[in-house]
This record gives sequence, C-alpha cells and structure tokens, in this order.
Amino acid sequence: CGIVGYIGQIDSKEILLKGLEKLEYRGYDSAGIALSGAEGVTVFKEKGRIADLRSIVDSSVTAPVGIGHTRWATHGEPSRVNAHPHQSASSRLTLVHNGVIENYVQLKKEFLADVELQSETDTEVVVQVIEKMMDQGSTVEEAFRQTLSILKGSYAIGLLDNQDPDTIYVAKNKSPLLVGLGEGFNVIASDAMAMLQVTNQYVELMDKEMVIVTREQAVIKTLTGEVVERAPYTAEIDA
Ligand code: GLU
Repeated sequence: CGIVGYIGQIDSKEILLKGLEKLEYRGYDSAGIALSGAEGVTVFKEKGRIADLRSIVDSSVTAPVGIGHTRWATHGEPSRVNAHPHQSASSRLTLVHNGVIENYVQLKKEFLADVELQSETDTEVVVQVIEKMMDQGSTVEEAFRQTLSILKGSYAIGLLDNQDPDTIYVAKNKSPLLVGLGEGFNVIASDAMAMLQVTNQYVELMDKEMVIVTREQAVIKTLTGEVVERAPYTAEIDA
C-alpha cells in the first residue's frame, strides 16, 4: 500500500499514476486518485490494478494538485466503495490513508451518530470527524490537528480541501511518509522511489508530525502547532 501527492504547475494525473505504479511492489488490492482543479475535486477509484484505475480516469480532467493511494484492505473488503480517497459528508474534504485506526468504532460512536457512512473503512471515520470539528468552528488545519490528536493507531494521511486548491495537508504516525521538494512544486510519497521522477530532495517526517504543503513550501508542525525545521536529504537514484 502507498500514498503519493503532487502540488505544482502542471497536470498531476500522470505523475500520480506513475508514482502509484512505482509503489506496486508494496502490495495492494485497489487504487484511487483525487484531482483538485478549477472544477473542484474529482475522485477516481477502482478495485484491482493501477491499469484498471487508469482505464476509468477521465483524461479530460486536468488538475495541478492531486493525491493518490494504493489500498491493502484491513477494514472492509476490497471494493470500489471501500477504495480511497474517501470524502466527508459535504464532499468538502478528500482523504487518503495508509495504516489502521484502532479506535475508529469509538470515534464513530462519539462523533458520527448522525452521519451515514459510505464505506466500511476505518479511514472514512477520520475524514468525517475532521468535518465535524469544522462544523464546530475550526479551520481545516485546526480540525485536522484536533482529529489527529485523538486518533489511536498508525497513519500516513493526505488531505485535500475543495475550497483551497493551494494546499495538501499531510500527517504521519508509524506509517512511512516523506515530503519531496521541487522548484515551484512539492510532492508527498510513502517511498522516495515513487517521486524520483520529479525530485530527489526529500524531508523525513517524524511520528505525530503534520505538514502543510503548498507549491512554495512545506511547513512541518507538531500536533501542538509548533513549527519544526528540518533540512532535506538527497535520495540516491537507483535505476
Ligand atoms: N485501514 C485502511 C483501509 O482498510 C487503510 C489500509 C491501507 O493501509 O491501505 O482502508
């Protein structure tokens, strides 16, 4: 399973799909991408191979921002509905996740009694809880941080807000995730191999850190909101 993401100037579709192909070695049963452009966020997802996903992606949709996911099902059978990305009730938020949310049943009871979930995944609970926090007045960043603080388990997460096409929110705990830096673009990936196609400069993330990724920068913060400075390293190209 794996995660990729791109925020830049050119169409993200092919970069995401190529990145997911590079992560195929990690194993997966389904895959999906979300593209964020002038018309908002569009999700394509499918059970099976990246080739199956490719065949349903509408080539006329172009977007300079996107996130992608390969799923290794832990909660909910492999299916198109359970494949990521998952969206919040209003469709404002779109999220991909690798890992296992151990307290998702409890979170569902506590926050989502009135929400009709679309999937059987632990992951969907996360995106729905973030939206609940926003309903109570939090910004996306605050709601993301509040939700991360109550999650138990492992996660690498990429999150899009369809009202802000200039940011990808990222978080990590006990699942791999890197931020890759470029000139006028930035990327995220579970493994540098996925994004060596566009950059070899990577910033490592520590557990319980979040990152606000824009075209120009990647600001790492702790879950209490303190900014963390960390220099990138050069990933070796192993062709
Ligand atoms: N637990 C999540 C699910 O079953 C994510 C699995 C993964 O890491 O791909 O959808």
